[in-house]
Amino acid sequence: MRIMKMTCPVCLANATIRKTNRKHPQLSDVYCQCTNLECGHTFVMNVSFSHTISPSALAGDGRVRELLNALGQDERKRVLELLREEEIKS
Ligand SMILES: [Zn+2]
Repeated sequence: MRIMKMTCPVCLANATIRKTNRKHPQLSDVYCQCTNLECGHTFVMNVSFSHTISPSALAGDGRVRELLNALGQDERKRVLELLREEEIKS
């Protein structure tokens, strides 16, 4: 697996990621420290979602199926009861 590499914007040496602060599912602040001892720059980079290359298998009803697969038999019955109750209300 490739690991994201950060580069110091001052001296262009590799930088180490010290901390990641997820501000939103599609946006993170990445705290970096330059590995060049003569530089020592610490800085924050923004990493944001850009676009989809291949859609998630969890899109559409995939997520619902995944949740149902994680449930036991009794829990599935309870979900069915809840859905029926909701259907009666509407
Ligand atoms: Zn640097």
